[in-house]
Amino acid sequence: MQRFRKSEQRGRATLGASLERFRLAAQALPDGVLLLDLPGRIEWMNPAAARHLGLEFDRDVGILIEQLIRRSEFFDYLARFRAGGELPPLVLTVGEDRGRRVLSLTLIPFADEGTLLLSRDITDIARTEAMRRDFIANVSHELRTPLTVISGFLEQMTSSDAIPKETTDAFLRLMTDQARRMTGLVEDLLTLSRLECDSEPPVSEPIDIASMMESLRAEAEALSGGKHIIQIGEMAPERLLGNADELRSAFGNLLSNAVRYTPPEGRIEITWRIDAGCPTLTVADNGIGIPKEHIPRLTERFYRVDKGRSSSTGGTGLGLAIVKHVLVRHQGTLVIKSDIGQGSSFSAVFPPGRCSGKA
Ligand code: ADP
Repeated sequence: MQRFRKSEQRGRATLGASLERFRLAAQALPDGVLLLDLPGRIEWMNPAAARHLGLEFDRDVGILIEQLIRRSEFFDYLARFRAGGELPPLVLTVGEDRGRRVLSLTLIPFADEGTLLLSRDITDIARTEAMRRDFIANVSHELRTPLTVISGFLEQMTSSDAIPKETTDAFLRLMTDQARRMTGLVEDLLTLSRLECDSEPPVSEPIDIASMMESLRAEAEALSGGKHIIQIGEMAPERLLGNADELRSAFGNLLSNAVRYTPPEGRIEITWRIDAGCPTLTVADNGIGIPKEHIPRLTERFYRVDKGRSSSTGGTGLGLAIVKHVLVRHQGTLVIKSDIGQGSSFSAVFPPGRCSGKA
């Protein structure tokens, strides 16, 4: 009898320890697990389920789930589950504003008469998916516009016999512009996708910013066609540690924007200084400026303040997205200051560790 009792005690202790381990495991799960009895009353839930569904263990155990998740989509889902058959998860948006979450809910038959309700927070996945859809829609739209123009001209040229030479020449010029626009867009898309492929730039080297700026200034002069005054201001002797190709493309974008958004006769100045230990490259212009409310969104892909102006000056809407990506890969940030009608300044600010000796 004594041996039997001892082994029973040991058995209980083992069972108790296993239950405790199971409870701890369920508590640590990032997914929500909720146990329902046959009529649909909550028997048990883990903290993630309580958090996802806004429930409280002590208050809500024993209550019918329909009374706690009062959403018509959920009622339908429950009814279909009870009618039998396999069901894909239900995607439900809960909460408001900043607390808004997207949940994936799945009901599964459990033991003989119970039901398991699993919840998973898919807010980030849903956001990425929405961004991907927007991106594809934007790219398609951007490519369709020049293609429509080109095919329109081609149609006219093939359907009428005697088009005067001046007209065909004008058509060809406009078609070349549109083809150039498409090439620019595809090149920017390729640059962005290369930047997204790996988190670190392939090579890092000390860059002589003064000479890089001199050659970028010459390119900006060519783009401006001599209509702007483009000056090189303070140039610190320190070198910047980074990837020359990527940084050249980022700084080149800032300069080309300054030219495209500054009316003729405007001034553009490039400075390179060490500000409180942080290497900082600034491109400042006295151009059209940017309304305050647009500033936080400028680095989003295809975000433009004035779509007409961006397209007419050859913009793809991807320039600042590329700048931001390059800076993030160099642990830098983009600081934008602007006043409407007064001008804008775009500063690429790098951490002190990116400062490398003097040229
Ligand atoms: P885009 O190809 O349209 O120039 P960007 O990503 O380079 O695309 O810039 C996004 C938007 O930011 C532009 O459409 C423009 O409205 C605004 N912007 C960028 N640089 C300047 C600037 N120097 N002055 C005024 N607005 C600017």
